[in-house]
Amino acid sequence: MDNLYDALELTLNDWQILFENWNEQKFRASQVCQWIYSKKEFSYHAMSNLSKTLREKLSGNIIMTLPIMMRQLVSKDGTKKFLWNLNDGAKIESVLLNHGGHKTACISSQAGCPLGCTFCETGANGFTRNLTRGEILGQFLMMEKINGADINNIVFMGMGEPFLNEDNVFSAIRSLNDKNMRNLGARHITISTSGIVPGIEDLADFEIPIRLSLSLHAPNDELRSKLMPVNRQYSLQKLVNALKRYRDRTGERITVEYALIDRVNDDPEYAYETAALLDGLEPYINIIPFNPIPSRPELKRSGQSRIKAFCNALSELKIEFELRKERGADIMAACGQLAGSKH
Ligand code: SAH
Ligand code: SF4
Repeated sequence: MDNLYDALELTLNDWQILFENWNEQKFRASQVCQWIYSKKEFSYHAMSNLSKTLREKLSGNIIMTLPIMMRQLVSKDGTKKFLWNLNDGAKIESVLLNHGGHKTACISSQAGCPLGCTFCETGANGFTRNLTRGEILGQFLMMEKINGADINNIVFMGMGEPFLNEDNVFSAIRSLNDKNMRNLGARHITISTSGIVPGIEDLADFEIPIRLSLSLHAPNDELRSKLMPVNRQYSLQKLVNALKRYRDRTGERITVEYALIDRVNDDPEYAYETAALLDGLEPYINIIPFNPIPSRPELKRSGQSRIKAFCNALSELKIEFELRKERGADIMAACGQLAGSKH
């Protein structure tokens, strides 16, 4: 039960109960949370609107565990990658992207990933454990503190599959969104999933209408199961049904990620198949350049003419898409390249 006494592990409700038990007023909970989540003040002694006695009581009873930054790499395009050491020595990474002044934090939900997609370095390095809610939030708050200003978008696109750590991810999102905590708008938060159907269904019913991104990468079960073993458990038809339910319940448009791997999934025929599969869903497709990974040197990024042919097929089909630029590949910070301290 140690976590109950670690500041970032506490929800607003936990803080309120704690202060009630200490015979303190309830609004003190919001005050402490505003110091931590809004002002990024992690020392109780500096929380100047609390009494000295309360500050001392907090220091003596509630520890403040934060991820320790082991390394910060800066890409030539401005992308920053952070390596964090957690309490038990597990290593995770987060990325800070900068698109023309708009900053986005890409954070991890697990140390490693158990799903082993063939094109992903995180998957190739195996799974260590789920992150706690405090570890999920800690990456973000530390990046904001280091950045010296708020970061107004957060994507669960770092290491791990968020829906395999759903309770902690949802708990962290509640605190990010809570107006007494980080007060980050629902539309500024995105979960990316490899296609965990029960997680998508839960998100459809989740009280905060955050955004959803699906990592598709192949439009039929045969090819997708080869690239993403998780597809054997949740087939594309089940997946599309869950996506439709999410869209109908939330009114939110889904983003679909598709990385073009040379001669693996980049035939224009697959663009037609993708359009047929997603018919009625009106998704927004991100075509991302495949980022080469050390564990699978045989997988190559598609050449310009193949990328063009695939995109032309999507245009013909009147599918809305964007051809993404790679970000941070020179520091292994691009999609699928995060590997903790492995390189
Ligand atoms: N596990 C979740 C969240 C991680 S997001 C998911 O898979 O969606 C990481 C994103 O990078 C996913 O869209 C994933 O499909 C993509 N990706 C993984 N390896 C990649 C690579 N080598 N090149 C480009 N994108 C990759
Ligand atoms: Fe895990 Fe996502 Fe990488 Fe697949 S792409 S191995 S689900 S992190």
